[in-house]
Amino acid sequence: IEKIREAAADGRTVFSFEYFPPKTEEGLDNLFERMDRMVAHGPNFCDITWGAGGSTADLTLEIANRMQNMVCVETMMHLTCTNMPVENIDEALTTIKSNGIQNVLALRGDPPHGQDKFVQVSGGFACALDLVRHIKAKYGDYFGITVAGYPEAHPEVIHSAEGATLEAYSNDLAYLKQKVDAGADLIITQLFYDTDIFLKFVNDCRQIGITCPIVPGIMPINNYKGFLRMTGFCKTKIPAEITAALDPIKDNEEAVKAYGIHLGTEMCKKVLASGIKTLHLYTLNMEKSALGILQNLGLIEESKVARSLPWRPPTNVFRV
Ligand code: FAD
Repeated sequence: IEKIREAAADGRTVFSFEYFPPKTEEGLDNLFERMDRMVAHGPNFCDITWGAGGSTADLTLEIANRMQNMVCVETMMHLTCTNMPVENIDEALTTIKSNGIQNVLALRGDPPHGQDKFVQVSGGFACALDLVRHIKAKYGDYFGITVAGYPEAHPEVIHSAEGATLEAYSNDLAYLKQKVDAGADLIITQLFYDTDIFLKFVNDCRQIGITCPIVPGIMPINNYKGFLRMTGFCKTKIPAEITAALDPIKDNEEAVKAYGIHLGTEMCKKVLASGIKTLHLYTLNMEKSALGILQNLGLIEESKVARSLPWRPPTNVFRV
Protein backbone atom coordinates (compact mmCIF):
# COMPACT_ATOMS: atom_id res chain seq x y z
CA ILE A 1 0.00 0.00 0.00
CA GLU A 2 1.31 3.34 -1.03
CA LYS A 3 0.30 6.54 0.68
CA ILE A 4 -0.79 9.32 -1.64
CA ARG A 5 1.74 11.86 -0.45
CA GLU A 6 4.53 9.65 -1.78
CA ALA A 7 2.94 9.20 -5.19
CA ALA A 8 2.15 12.89 -5.58
CA ALA A 9 5.69 13.97 -4.89
CA ASP A 10 7.56 12.03 -7.58
CA GLY A 11 7.30 14.55 -10.39
CA ARG A 12 4.83 12.81 -12.73
CA THR A 13 1.63 14.58 -13.76
CA VAL A 14 -1.00 12.67 -11.86
CA PHE A 15 -4.76 12.88 -11.62
CA SER A 16 -7.42 11.65 -9.23
CA PHE A 17 -11.17 11.11 -9.36
CA GLU A 18 -13.73 11.94 -6.69
CA TYR A 19 -17.05 10.11 -6.29
CA PHE A 20 -19.99 10.35 -3.90
CA PRO A 21 -22.15 7.51 -2.49
CA PRO A 22 -25.16 6.95 -4.79
CA LYS A 23 -28.69 6.84 -3.35
CA THR A 24 -29.83 3.51 -4.84
CA GLU A 25 -28.53 -0.05 -5.32
CA GLU A 26 -28.71 0.46 -9.06
CA GLY A 27 -26.71 3.66 -8.72
CA LEU A 28 -24.11 1.76 -6.73
CA ASP A 29 -23.76 -0.92 -9.42
CA ASN A 30 -23.44 1.78 -12.06
CA LEU A 31 -20.83 3.59 -10.00
CA PHE A 32 -18.62 0.52 -9.67
CA GLU A 33 -18.87 -0.24 -13.39
CA ARG A 34 -17.92 3.35 -14.15
CA MET A 35 -15.15 3.32 -11.61
CA ASP A 36 -13.67 0.16 -13.17
CA ARG A 37 -13.59 1.87 -16.57
CA MET A 38 -12.10 5.06 -15.15
CA VAL A 39 -9.51 3.33 -12.98
CA ALA A 40 -8.23 1.62 -16.15
CA HIS A 41 -6.80 5.05 -17.03
CA GLY A 42 -4.47 4.98 -14.04
CA PRO A 43 -5.54 7.64 -11.54
CA ASN A 44 -3.12 8.29 -8.71
CA PHE A 45 -5.97 7.72 -6.28
CA CYS A 46 -9.75 7.92 -6.07
CA ASP A 47 -11.77 9.30 -3.23
CA ILE A 48 -15.21 8.83 -1.84
CA THR A 49 -17.08 11.55 0.01
CA TRP A 50 -18.63 11.37 3.46
CA GLY A 51 -22.32 12.28 3.10
CA ALA A 52 -23.30 15.63 4.59
CA GLY A 53 -23.82 15.27 8.34
CA GLY A 54 -22.61 11.66 8.27
CA SER A 55 -25.74 10.59 6.37
CA THR A 56 -23.87 7.98 4.33
CA ALA A 57 -21.36 6.76 6.91
CA ASP A 58 -21.91 3.00 6.48
CA LEU A 59 -22.18 3.25 2.72
CA THR A 60 -19.07 5.40 2.45
CA LEU A 61 -17.14 2.86 4.54
CA GLU A 62 -18.39 0.00 2.36
CA ILE A 63 -17.60 1.79 -0.89
CA ALA A 64 -14.14 2.76 0.36
CA ASN A 65 -13.43 -0.88 1.21
CA ARG A 66 -14.58 -2.08 -2.23
CA MET A 67 -12.55 0.64 -3.95
CA GLN A 68 -9.35 -0.27 -2.13
CA ASN A 69 -9.71 -4.06 -2.22
CA MET A 70 -11.85 -4.89 -5.25
CA VAL A 71 -11.43 -2.03 -7.70
CA CYS A 72 -7.85 -2.02 -6.42
CA VAL A 73 -7.27 1.72 -6.58
CA GLU A 74 -5.47 3.70 -3.89
CA THR A 75 -8.42 5.04 -1.92
CA MET A 76 -8.90 8.18 0.13
CA MET A 77 -11.98 8.38 2.32
CA HIS A 78 -13.44 11.71 3.36
CA LEU A 79 -14.39 12.03 7.02
CA THR A 80 -16.21 14.92 8.66
CA CYS A 81 -16.80 15.96 12.28
CA THR A 82 -20.49 16.79 11.83
CA ASN A 83 -22.58 14.66 14.24
CA MET A 84 -19.54 12.53 15.06
CA PRO A 85 -18.50 12.00 18.69
CA VAL A 86 -14.88 10.85 18.82
CA GLU A 87 -15.89 7.17 19.30
CA ASN A 88 -17.66 7.25 15.93
CA ILE A 89 -14.65 8.89 14.33
CA ASP A 90 -12.40 6.18 15.72
CA GLU A 91 -14.80 3.48 14.62
CA ALA A 92 -14.59 4.79 11.07
CA LEU A 93 -10.81 5.13 11.19
CA THR A 94 -10.18 1.68 12.65
CA THR A 95 -12.55 0.17 10.09
CA ILE A 96 -10.67 1.65 7.16
CA LYS A 97 -7.35 0.86 8.79
CA SER A 98 -8.33 -2.79 9.06
CA ASN A 99 -9.32 -2.66 5.38
CA GLY A 100 -5.90 -1.37 4.40
CA ILE A 101 -6.98 2.16 3.53
CA GLN A 102 -4.24 4.64 4.34
CA ASN A 103 -5.62 7.97 3.16
CA VAL A 104 -8.15 10.27 4.76
CA LEU A 105 -9.47 13.69 3.77
CA ALA A 106 -10.05 15.27 7.18
CA LEU A 107 -12.88 17.79 7.17
CA ARG A 108 -15.01 19.69 9.59
CA GLY A 109 -18.12 19.22 7.43
CA ASP A 110 -21.03 21.51 6.78
CA PRO A 111 -23.71 22.20 9.40
CA PRO A 112 -26.46 19.55 9.38
CA HIS A 113 -29.32 20.19 6.94
CA GLY A 114 -31.55 23.04 8.05
CA GLN A 115 -28.91 24.66 10.29
CA ASP A 116 -26.70 27.49 9.13
CA LYS A 117 -23.98 27.31 11.78
CA PHE A 118 -21.67 24.40 12.45
CA VAL A 119 -22.22 23.14 15.99
CA GLN A 120 -19.68 20.91 17.68
CA VAL A 121 -21.42 17.70 18.75
CA SER A 122 -20.92 16.66 22.40
CA GLY A 123 -17.67 14.67 22.59
CA GLY A 124 -16.77 15.64 19.04
CA PHE A 125 -14.53 18.12 17.24
CA ALA A 126 -15.03 21.78 16.36
CA CYS A 127 -12.98 21.94 13.19
CA ALA A 128 -10.83 19.99 10.75
CA LEU A 129 -7.70 21.03 12.67
CA ASP A 130 -8.95 19.07 15.73
CA LEU A 131 -9.55 16.04 13.51
CA VAL A 132 -6.08 16.23 11.95
CA ARG A 133 -4.51 16.49 15.43
CA HIS A 134 -6.55 13.52 16.63
CA ILE A 135 -5.59 11.34 13.65
CA LYS A 136 -1.92 12.16 14.13
CA ALA A 137 -1.99 11.64 17.89
CA LYS A 138 -3.84 8.35 17.75
CA TYR A 139 -2.67 6.76 14.49
CA GLY A 140 0.79 8.27 14.07
CA ASP A 141 2.00 8.08 10.49
CA TYR A 142 -0.34 5.31 9.41
CA PHE A 143 -2.67 7.68 7.53
CA GLY A 144 -1.77 10.11 4.80
CA ILE A 145 -3.88 13.14 5.70
CA THR A 146 -5.40 15.52 3.18
CA VAL A 147 -7.24 18.73 4.09
CA ALA A 148 -9.48 21.14 2.20
CA GLY A 149 -8.19 24.50 0.97
CA TYR A 150 -10.28 27.42 -0.27
CA PRO A 151 -8.73 29.60 -2.99
CA GLU A 152 -11.46 32.23 -2.47
CA ALA A 153 -11.65 31.60 1.33
CA HIS A 154 -14.29 29.43 2.99
CA PRO A 155 -17.84 30.54 2.02
CA GLU A 156 -18.67 31.17 5.70
CA VAL A 157 -16.30 34.13 5.73
CA ILE A 158 -17.50 35.58 2.40
CA HIS A 159 -20.14 38.23 2.95
CA SER A 160 -20.17 40.15 -0.31
CA ALA A 161 -20.22 39.51 -4.04
CA GLU A 162 -16.70 40.96 -4.14
CA GLY A 163 -15.49 37.93 -2.21
CA ALA A 164 -13.71 37.63 1.13
CA THR A 165 -11.99 40.64 2.66
CA LEU A 166 -8.20 40.51 2.70
CA GLU A 167 -8.34 39.98 6.45
CA ALA A 168 -10.76 37.04 6.23
CA TYR A 169 -8.74 35.50 3.39
CA SER A 170 -5.48 35.85 5.35
CA ASN A 171 -7.05 34.32 8.48
CA ASP A 172 -8.31 31.41 6.41
CA LEU A 173 -4.81 30.87 5.00
CA ALA A 174 -3.21 31.05 8.43
CA TYR A 175 -5.68 28.46 9.64
CA LEU A 176 -4.89 26.25 6.62
CA LYS A 177 -1.24 26.43 7.62
CA GLN A 178 -2.20 25.24 11.10
CA LYS A 179 -3.88 22.20 9.52
CA VAL A 180 -0.72 21.45 7.55
CA ASP A 181 1.55 22.05 10.54
CA ALA A 182 -0.62 19.65 12.54
CA GLY A 183 0.18 16.88 10.07
CA ALA A 184 -1.70 17.26 6.77
CA ASP A 185 0.33 15.99 3.82
CA LEU A 186 -1.74 17.33 0.96
CA ILE A 187 -4.30 20.05 0.24
CA ILE A 188 -7.16 19.60 -2.22
CA THR A 189 -8.93 22.79 -3.12
CA GLN A 190 -12.53 23.74 -3.34
CA LEU A 191 -13.76 24.11 -6.92
CA PHE A 192 -12.95 27.35 -8.72
CA TYR A 193 -13.48 28.70 -12.23
CA ASP A 194 -10.95 31.53 -12.23
CA THR A 195 -7.60 29.80 -12.57
CA ASP A 196 -5.71 32.99 -11.69
CA ILE A 197 -7.39 32.94 -8.28
CA PHE A 198 -6.16 29.38 -7.73
CA LEU A 199 -2.61 30.25 -8.83
CA LYS A 200 -2.56 33.28 -6.54
CA PHE A 201 -3.79 31.09 -3.68
CA VAL A 202 -0.93 28.64 -4.25
CA ASN A 203 1.52 31.50 -4.27
CA ASP A 204 0.02 32.96 -1.09
CA CYS A 205 0.25 29.55 0.59
CA ARG A 206 3.92 29.28 -0.37
CA GLN A 207 4.54 32.80 0.98
CA ILE A 208 3.34 31.78 4.43
CA GLY A 209 5.38 28.59 4.43
CA ILE A 210 2.88 25.94 3.31
CA THR A 211 5.07 23.54 1.35
CA CYS A 212 2.92 20.44 0.79
CA PRO A 213 1.36 19.70 -2.64
CA ILE A 214 -1.74 21.80 -3.37
CA VAL A 215 -4.04 19.92 -5.71
CA PRO A 216 -6.57 21.93 -7.72
CA GLY A 217 -10.14 20.60 -7.45
CA ILE A 218 -11.57 20.78 -10.96
CA MET A 219 -15.32 20.44 -11.38
CA PRO A 220 -16.23 20.13 -15.07
CA ILE A 221 -19.46 21.93 -15.92
CA ASN A 222 -21.92 19.15 -16.81
CA ASN A 223 -25.18 20.91 -16.46
CA TYR A 224 -26.09 24.59 -16.33
CA LYS A 225 -28.47 24.48 -13.35
CA GLY A 226 -26.08 22.28 -11.37
CA PHE A 227 -23.26 24.73 -12.11
CA LEU A 228 -25.31 27.69 -10.83
CA ARG A 229 -26.36 25.75 -7.71
CA MET A 230 -22.83 24.66 -6.88
CA THR A 231 -21.16 28.02 -7.51
CA GLY A 232 -23.94 29.74 -5.54
CA PHE A 233 -23.49 27.40 -2.58
CA CYS A 234 -19.70 27.77 -2.60
CA LYS A 235 -19.80 31.50 -3.46
CA THR A 236 -17.44 30.84 -6.37
CA LYS A 237 -16.52 33.73 -8.66
CA ILE A 238 -17.52 33.13 -12.26
CA PRO A 239 -15.37 34.97 -14.82
CA ALA A 240 -17.40 37.08 -17.29
CA GLU A 241 -16.21 35.06 -20.29
CA ILE A 242 -17.66 31.87 -18.80
CA THR A 243 -21.05 33.51 -18.26
CA ALA A 244 -20.90 34.88 -21.81
CA ALA A 245 -20.05 31.48 -23.28
CA LEU A 246 -22.72 29.64 -21.29
CA ASP A 247 -25.58 32.07 -21.71
CA PRO A 248 -26.41 31.27 -25.37
CA ILE A 249 -26.12 27.48 -24.85
CA LYS A 250 -27.60 27.09 -21.37
CA ASP A 251 -30.66 25.13 -22.61
CA ASN A 252 -28.60 22.75 -24.73
CA GLU A 253 -27.29 20.07 -22.41
CA GLU A 254 -24.86 18.55 -24.89
CA ALA A 255 -23.40 21.95 -25.75
CA VAL A 256 -22.96 22.77 -22.05
CA LYS A 257 -21.14 19.48 -21.47
CA ALA A 258 -18.89 20.05 -24.48
CA TYR A 259 -18.11 23.56 -23.24
CA GLY A 260 -17.42 22.11 -19.77
CA ILE A 261 -14.78 19.82 -21.27
CA HIS A 262 -13.27 22.68 -23.25
CA LEU A 263 -13.16 24.97 -20.22
CA GLY A 264 -11.83 22.25 -17.91
CA THR A 265 -9.09 21.50 -20.43
CA GLU A 266 -8.05 25.15 -20.67
CA MET A 267 -8.05 25.53 -16.88
CA CYS A 268 -5.93 22.42 -16.43
CA LYS A 269 -3.49 23.52 -19.15
CA LYS A 270 -2.94 26.77 -17.30
CA VAL A 271 -2.48 24.95 -13.99
CA LEU A 272 0.00 22.49 -15.51
CA ALA A 273 1.88 25.31 -17.26
CA SER A 274 2.51 26.82 -13.81
CA GLY A 275 4.43 23.69 -12.85
CA ILE A 276 1.75 21.99 -10.78
CA LYS A 277 1.58 18.30 -11.59
CA THR A 278 -1.55 17.11 -9.84
CA LEU A 279 -5.19 17.41 -10.89
CA HIS A 280 -8.20 16.34 -8.87
CA LEU A 281 -11.43 15.87 -10.81
CA TYR A 282 -14.78 16.16 -9.10
CA THR A 283 -16.52 13.63 -11.35
CA LEU A 284 -20.02 13.98 -9.84
CA ASN A 285 -20.09 10.23 -10.55
CA MET A 286 -19.93 10.83 -14.32
CA GLU A 287 -17.11 9.82 -16.59
CA LYS A 288 -17.40 11.64 -19.91
CA SER A 289 -16.29 15.10 -18.83
CA ALA A 290 -13.43 14.04 -16.58
CA LEU A 291 -12.06 11.64 -19.19
CA GLY A 292 -12.63 14.14 -22.00
CA ILE A 293 -10.45 16.68 -20.20
CA LEU A 294 -7.69 14.16 -19.47
CA GLN A 295 -7.77 12.98 -23.06
CA ASN A 296 -7.45 16.55 -24.35
CA LEU A 297 -4.45 16.98 -22.06
CA GLY A 298 -2.84 13.83 -23.43
CA LEU A 299 -2.83 12.24 -19.99
CA ILE A 300 -4.89 9.22 -21.04
CA GLU A 301 -5.19 7.17 -24.20
CA GLU A 302 -7.78 8.24 -26.72
CA SER A 303 -8.69 4.68 -27.71
CA LYS A 304 -10.19 3.96 -24.31
CA VAL A 305 -12.51 6.98 -24.25
CA ALA A 306 -15.95 7.16 -25.88
CA ARG A 307 -15.92 9.92 -28.51
CA SER A 308 -17.83 13.16 -28.01
CA LEU A 309 -18.08 16.27 -30.17
CA PRO A 310 -15.52 18.99 -29.42
CA TRP A 311 -16.76 22.33 -28.15
CA ARG A 312 -16.99 25.25 -30.60
CA PRO A 313 -17.59 28.84 -29.53
CA PRO A 314 -21.30 29.65 -30.02
CA THR A 315 -22.04 31.47 -33.26
CA ASN A 316 -25.04 33.58 -34.06
CA VAL A 317 -26.46 31.67 -37.02
CA PHE A 318 -28.83 34.51 -37.90
CA ARG A 319 -25.98 36.91 -38.47
CA VAL A 320 -23.87 34.64 -40.70
P1 FAD B 1 -12.26 23.76 8.58
O1 FAD B 1 -10.93 23.54 7.98
O2 FAD B 1 -12.43 23.39 9.99
O3 FAD B 1 -12.61 25.30 8.37
C1 FAD B 1 -13.92 25.83 8.32
C2 FAD B 1 -13.92 27.34 8.47
O4 FAD B 1 -13.73 27.67 9.81
C3 FAD B 1 -12.80 28.06 7.71
O5 FAD B 1 -13.26 29.32 7.31
C4 FAD B 1 -11.74 28.21 8.75
O6 FAD B 1 -10.83 29.25 8.46
C5 FAD B 1 -12.57 28.45 9.98
N1 FAD B 1 -11.93 27.97 11.19
C6 FAD B 1 -12.17 26.78 11.77
N2 FAD B 1 -11.41 26.65 12.89
C7 FAD B 1 -10.70 27.76 12.98
C8 FAD B 1 -9.75 28.22 13.92
N3 FAD B 1 -9.39 27.49 14.96
N4 FAD B 1 -9.21 29.43 13.71
C9 FAD B 1 -9.57 30.17 12.67
N5 FAD B 1 -10.46 29.79 11.74
C10 FAD B 1 -11.03 28.61 11.92
N6 FAD B 1 -18.31 17.99 3.09
C11 FAD B 1 -18.91 16.83 3.45
O7 FAD B 1 -19.89 16.83 4.19
N7 FAD B 1 -18.43 15.62 2.99
C12 FAD B 1 -17.35 15.53 2.18
O8 FAD B 1 -16.95 14.44 1.79
C13 FAD B 1 -16.70 16.75 1.78
N8 FAD B 1 -15.61 16.74 0.97
C14 FAD B 1 -14.97 17.92 0.67
C15 FAD B 1 -13.81 17.87 -0.12
C16 FAD B 1 -13.14 19.05 -0.44
C17 FAD B 1 -11.86 18.98 -1.26
C18 FAD B 1 -13.64 20.30 0.01
C19 FAD B 1 -12.93 21.58 -0.36
C20 FAD B 1 -14.78 20.35 0.77
C21 FAD B 1 -15.46 19.16 1.12
N9 FAD B 1 -16.61 19.17 1.92
C22 FAD B 1 -17.23 17.98 2.27
C23 FAD B 1 -17.19 20.44 2.38
C24 FAD B 1 -16.65 20.85 3.76
O9 FAD B 1 -17.09 19.92 4.73
C25 FAD B 1 -17.18 22.24 4.07
O10 FAD B 1 -16.60 23.19 3.23
C26 FAD B 1 -17.10 22.66 5.54
O11 FAD B 1 -17.93 23.79 5.72
C27 FAD B 1 -15.70 23.04 6.02
O12 FAD B 1 -14.89 21.95 6.18
P2 FAD B 1 -13.30 22.18 6.39
O13 FAD B 1 -12.71 20.87 6.66
O14 FAD B 1 -12.76 22.99 5.31
O15 FAD B 1 -13.38 23.03 7.75
